[in-house]
Amino acid sequence: MNGHVVKKPLRDFEIWDRYDGPDKLYSFDLELTARCNLNCRHCYINLPAGHSHSACNELTIKEISRIADQAVDLGAMWCLLSGGEPLLRKDFGDIYLMLKKKGLLLSVFTNATLISDRHIELFLTYPPRDIEITVYGVTPETYEKVTRRPGSFQAFKRGLDLLVSSGLQVRLKAMALRSNVHEMSHIAEFCRRYTKDYFRYDANLHLRFDRDVAKNRDIISERLSAAEVVALEESDRERFAALQEQCDKYVLPEFERNTSTRVFACGIGSGGSVNIGYDGQLRLCSSLYHPDYMFDLRSGTIKEALRQLVQKVKNLTSNREKFLTHCRACSLVNVCQWCPAVAYLETGLLDEPVDHFCRVAHARADSVQQPVNESAEEKTTDSQKLL
Ligand code: SF4
Ligand code: SF4
Repeated sequence: MNGHVVKKPLRDFEIWDRYDGPDKLYSFDLELTARCNLNCRHCYINLPAGHSHSACNELTIKEISRIADQAVDLGAMWCLLSGGEPLLRKDFGDIYLMLKKKGLLLSVFTNATLISDRHIELFLTYPPRDIEITVYGVTPETYEKVTRRPGSFQAFKRGLDLLVSSGLQVRLKAMALRSNVHEMSHIAEFCRRYTKDYFRYDANLHLRFDRDVAKNRDIISERLSAAEVVALEESDRERFAALQEQCDKYVLPEFERNTSTRVFACGIGSGGSVNIGYDGQLRLCSSLYHPDYMFDLRSGTIKEALRQLVQKVKNLTSNREKFLTHCRACSLVNVCQWCPAVAYLETGLLDEPVDHFCRVAHARADSVQQPVNESAEEKTTDSQKLL
C-alpha cells in the first residue's frame, strides 16, 4: 500500500458492506418517457412524441431527484436512462446533471436522432458510463421501414457521427426483425466498425407495455421464425460452439420432474435492480407490467415497494395444470425466453406457456444438441448469409 492504492481481492473491498441486509439496490433503470420521435414497428413503448396525456404524467425532475435519493440511500451506484426516447424530454440535460451530481454512473439508451451539440458538450463535460444506440438498418430504406419516419436514417447517422467524432464511446446493437433481417450481416459489420469490442443483437420481441392490440400485431409480424432465430445464433460460430459444448448445462431432462408450483422461478427481486416507469410505477423487472406487481412511487418509497413486491412475487404459486406440466416442468427452460412477465404481456396470464417462445426453444435445443462437427461444417453455410 502506498497511501493511495490498496491491492486486495475485489470481494474484500468495504464497498460491499453497504449491500449487507435487505432492501439493497445496485442500480435502477429510469424510463424518462414512454414517448418517442420514431415509430418502430417492433417497439413495446413508443407513444407519439406529442402524446400529451403521457407527457403530463411523466415524473418531474423534482420527483426524479427524490426517487434517486432513495435509490442512492439503498446503495444504488448506477442508473440507466431510457424511454421511449429519453432525449425527447426538454429537461433531459437538467435531469442528467442532477443525477450525476448525486454521484451516479449513468448509461443512456437513445436512438441518436436527437443528439445535438448541447448533448455532446454535456457528455464531454460529465461523461456517461456508456451510450447505447440501436441500429435498425444501414440503408435509409431498411432503417425507415422499421422506424416509419422519413428522414430518420439521416438524423441517426448525423447523431452517431456527432458522438463518435467528439470522441465519445458508443455501443451499437441491433434488433433482428422481419423488416431488416436481409440486412443483418451489413448491420453487424456497420456496428463492429464503430465498436470493435461490442456488438449484440436481440431477436426476442416482447409485446407492448400498454397491450395495444394493433401495435402488438405489428410486433408479431416483425418476429422471425424459430428457424431464422436459430440460423442467426448458429452464425456466431465461436459462441455457438461454446453453447454446444455445454449443452448439457442448458437442456436439463431432470427439470421435467420439477414439482414446484412457484410462478417465478427466476431471481426476480433479488437482483438489486428495479425499473421505474415514466409515471413513477416501480417494476421489479423491465418486462413485468402486471398491475398487481407494480408500485406507485408517487405515493410511497422504493423501500416500501421492495418490501411489498418482493415477497409477493416469491410467494406466488399456480395450480394451473397447463403451467405445471409445461413451463414449470420443462427441460428447455434454460434455452427458452418464456417467463411470467412476457407470458402476461402475451396472454394476460402469468402462468401460461407462449407458443412462439416454445417453438424457438425447441428449435434452439435441437440445434445446440447436434454434434459439434455437423453444425460447424454444414449448418453455417446457410446462416452465414445472415450475419
Ligand atoms: S427508437 Fe426506440 S423507443 Fe423509439 S420507437 Fe424505436 S425502439 Fe421504440
Ligand atoms: S414456453 Fe415451452 S419451452 Fe418455454 S418453458 Fe414453457 S414449455 Fe418450456
